[in-house]
Amino acid sequence: MRVEEFKNQIYSCLRCGFCFDHIEGSQAKICPSYVTYGMESYGARGKLAIARALVDGVLDYDADVARRIYACTECGACEEQCFKYLPLLDLYAAMKSDLAERDLVPSELGAAARAVEAEGNPYGKPRASRLDWVPGTSRVGKTGPLLYFVGCTPSYVRRGIARSGYALLEAAGADFSLLRDEICCGHPQTSAGRVEEARAAAESLVAAVEASGAETVVFPCPGCLKTFREDYPRLLGRPLRFRTLHVTEFLAERMGAGALRLRKQSRIVAYHDPCTLGRGLGVYDAPRQAIDAVPGAKRVELRRAREASFCCGSGAFVRLGFEPMSVENEQARWAEATATGADLVVSACPACQIALLDAKRRAKSPIEVEDVVEWVASAL
Ligand code: SF4
Ligand code: SF4
Repeated sequence: MRVEEFKNQIYSCLRCGFCFDHIEGSQAKICPSYVTYGMESYGARGKLAIARALVDGVLDYDADVARRIYACTECGACEEQCFKYLPLLDLYAAMKSDLAERDLVPSELGAAARAVEAEGNPYGKPRASRLDWVPGTSRVGKTGPLLYFVGCTPSYVRRGIARSGYALLEAAGADFSLLRDEICCGHPQTSAGRVEEARAAAESLVAAVEASGAETVVFPCPGCLKTFREDYPRLLGRPLRFRTLHVTEFLAERMGAGALRLRKQSRIVAYHDPCTLGRGLGVYDAPRQAIDAVPGAKRVELRRAREASFCCGSGAFVRLGFEPMSVENEQARWAEATATGADLVVSACPACQIALLDAKRRAKSPIEVEDVVEWVASAL
């Protein structure tokens, strides 16, 4: 069992509870899974107790354990608050890997992972239609120092993000290319615990990126970025030979040089930190700088922001098997976003956008939702 590799950390847990209940200065719970299911076993301290019982040999993996481990958005709020700095997300990944080996992946997530293996995306959409949104084919399959890795959700489901990222790179004067045979980065596989399939995706995509001659790869999706930046070096046992940047990090470099001329947009913009981009990768300032680059924009902060941000409820593909949890938490986050007085809510992640749009629809709210690249591109 891989969970045994974490035995020392598991025994280090103080059972203090900082990882799942509310934090100082706030009466709001920090763990979306605990918010919805209300049992300690869904929060980090409970998962640690389960892990300890597993390594002590008094519990076996079963469907109940699987439910606790997969009903987790991997938002990282628990790890951020952990008094002992325990590597909780790595522990959950090890437990998912053990569960996948025992065929205990929730059926909806397993189906998405199998769709990736069949069609190169978790939506089961045709491989051949992935690039249908691209304006012209001149950049497709080209070699060069900069590559735009679009990701599955922008390629198929939120094509406004794919097009806006493309338009911003062009407006910034970047000479960039797209992979002709882009496939899923493997994030659904890592979320499911299917390590060998994730490794196969890493090998294939890193070979394709290196063959393109890219020195820098730019992503609109934090999930793809995190998979490349953090998971691939671990899966491949070597560092990547290219830089990886979120599109807002790339723009922050370029906008400093005044590359983008943007029109005035008099809007009040609330920024929701995506967990994977913020707590996961430490990128807090670049999206805010991108919002502020539009003249006339007034940016406002949600009550819980940056390291203390609250998840949209849709991380780690939990919407597939735990939709009530996604809906409850997206509605809570929507209430925080709209309480700011903003007329536009902006995130920097396609999964967050889907969650926020769902919350807007349910609330019948006139407040708009955009990805940060759509917001900036609308001012070109
Ligand atoms: S990663 Fe988020 S959802 Fe998962 S246990 Fe930690 S706080 Fe809860
Ligand atoms: S905050 Fe860390 S040490 Fe405290 S109960 Fe949670 S996992 Fe254990």
